[in-house]
Amino acid sequence: MSNESLANLLREERRFAPPAELAANANVTAEAYERAKADRLGFWAEQAHRLTWATEPNETLDWSNPPFAKWFADGKLNVAYNCVDRHVENGLGDRVALHFEGEPGDTRSLTYADLQREVSQAAHALTELGVQTGDRVAIYMPMIPETVVAMLACARIGAPHSVVFGGFSADALATRIKDADARVVITSDGGYRRGKPSALKPAVDEALTRPGTEDVRSVLVVRRTGQDVEWHEGRDVWWHEIVDRQPEQHTPEAFDAEHPLFILYTSGTTGKPKGILHTTGGYLTQVSYTHHAVFDLKPESDVYWCTADVGWVTGHSYIVYGPLSNGATEVLYEGTPDTPHQGRWWEIVQKYGVSILYTAPTAIRACMKWGDDIPAKFDLSSLRILGSVGEPINPEAWVWYRKHIGGDRTPVVDTWWQTETGGMMITPLPGVTATKPGSAQVPLPGISATVVDDEANEVPDGAGGYLVLTEPWPSMLRTIWGDDQRYLDTYWARFENRYFAGDGAKKDDDGDIWLLGRVDDVMLVSGHNISTTEVESALVSHPKVAEAAVVGATDPQTTQAICAFVILRGGAAEDEGLVEELRAHVAKQLGPIAKPKRILPVAELPKTRSGKIMRRLLRDVAENRALGDVTTLTDSSVMELIQTKLPSAASED
Ligand code: ATP
Ligand code: MG
Repeated sequence: MSNESLANLLREERRFAPPAELAANANVTAEAYERAKADRLGFWAEQAHRLTWATEPNETLDWSNPPFAKWFADGKLNVAYNCVDRHVENGLGDRVALHFEGEPGDTRSLTYADLQREVSQAAHALTELGVQTGDRVAIYMPMIPETVVAMLACARIGAPHSVVFGGFSADALATRIKDADARVVITSDGGYRRGKPSALKPAVDEALTRPGTEDVRSVLVVRRTGQDVEWHEGRDVWWHEIVDRQPEQHTPEAFDAEHPLFILYTSGTTGKPKGILHTTGGYLTQVSYTHHAVFDLKPESDVYWCTADVGWVTGHSYIVYGPLSNGATEVLYEGTPDTPHQGRWWEIVQKYGVSILYTAPTAIRACMKWGDDIPAKFDLSSLRILGSVGEPINPEAWVWYRKHIGGDRTPVVDTWWQTETGGMMITPLPGVTATKPGSAQVPLPGISATVVDDEANEVPDGAGGYLVLTEPWPSMLRTIWGDDQRYLDTYWARFENRYFAGDGAKKDDDGDIWLLGRVDDVMLVSGHNISTTEVESALVSHPKVAEAAVVGATDPQTTQAICAFVILRGGAAEDEGLVEELRAHVAKQLGPIAKPKRILPVAELPKTRSGKIMRRLLRDVAENRALGDVTTLTDSSVMELIQTKLPSAASED
């Protein structure tokens, strides 16, 4: 990518210093960077003391067999005890852990004491169903408190869970059950989505007819919607029938720090999902520390809300394990942001006095499209920190988020990390960093990341390349479940001794890191590397564009030609004039080389269930190929619509 285009990206001279009061009372100050730099392992050993260990670890990192890491290997602990029981023992049993808001408007608040009772009972129930330490349990649930209880109950008895997002099909569920060889599936009759009950149990029934799922002995079913379900006697058990009659006390057993905690499949943006394995002590240390540091959590007064689904890593690390290990009070919302109206999220912020909000750029762009007047109707003054995760956030959306949600007052922390990293890696700290719209900026204390070129040389400030992590970190994946070779090939083969994240990145003149999208998505146009993120960002900065996805399609003249798919803002007319206007706009922002060859207005973009744009499918369309793996796509009709539109609406010259 050219330096002039970076200069364009950075034409935003805006920097936002941390609010003085926040900086003065911040959980973590600039000194943490110094301390971690002087003694990285000592720094993490210190953070491990955030947890309560049954046996304190003496070892920090064992890297004798790279890239297979062991952290705190001689320590023992119980994750559920750390997330629940110890808070009750510390006198916080009456503190609300979860404010549950169902989509239909039903609510339920669970205190830490409630959570302790329910997790204990669920742990007994799993044991009664024959689940033993080490057995895998699949969880296929809506966003309800029992989902959190189920995960913690698994952790409590040392049974690794594999949470499968509730929007996935029976096939996707079957593949994941089979891959992890799960013994029990926890599900519900259904959940509420877009104003009506949406069934889950039938997908489990269907998945369990597929070959390779025979080892599933029991299906534990939560009653949520009350809809009819088919019942398999001897296999299916109602949650309320088995869990509610169990003893309310349960003694947690301490497990090795390297005991598996969960398997989680990546979202499938770049290809076939990978079953990422996370373990216990290092994972909990990093998610607890980062949640404390990056959100500056004050557990006595903050109300925290992460809008992710628990089926994604963000839900695991920053709905369940991070916040609960820190004794947070949080909101858990079942439904979609626009049910029954487009102000639902802001109504929830107002109702519970949410002070920390963590969401994704895709949701922010949807809210922008719906209009500023919607959040303006609600009192959002309780908010003090906003977070973003999941995709590069374009400066336009970042500034909108800060202004219209954060009242031009709150820091926005853009947190870069992956399912594989387990916890946050590159992000500003709200009490320390002067934030820059669109940049994730700096590695956290104790994290080593940089940008390298093809030959693994670190690039100078102002240049771009590949994002790599240069030292092991506590919450790193331990392997790909059942496939050590794929673990080595995917992450450790590209550069020696460095973890290859698969993302393109750039360092600006201050050395701050900008994420530029997947390496697979970077385009080669007439000898220039151009990132999809930059062109998308330029398109979205045009007032008539709400969202954009850009891909490089094979082109005989230029190697690749830039092909853009755009969603227009309400009211913008789709005509030849507009397409030309947008092409000229990109050329002006980034230079003529980045001018899209084709721009196609579309109604929707193909997204994964986690809300990320699936550029590889758009590339398939642009190159007239059969579509690749679509199992993690939200709505396959989107692709049909785009395909039928393609030849006629494309602008070529
Ligand atoms: P798959 O690995 O199956 O293709 P995926 O990479 O989308 O799926 P996740 O682990 O959920 O699965 O997503 C991690 C990726 O999301 C990162 O590698 C990066 O590309 C993107 N990402 C996450 N947070 C940010 C961020 N703050 N800025 C830029 N990109 C981000
Ligand atoms: Mg990935």
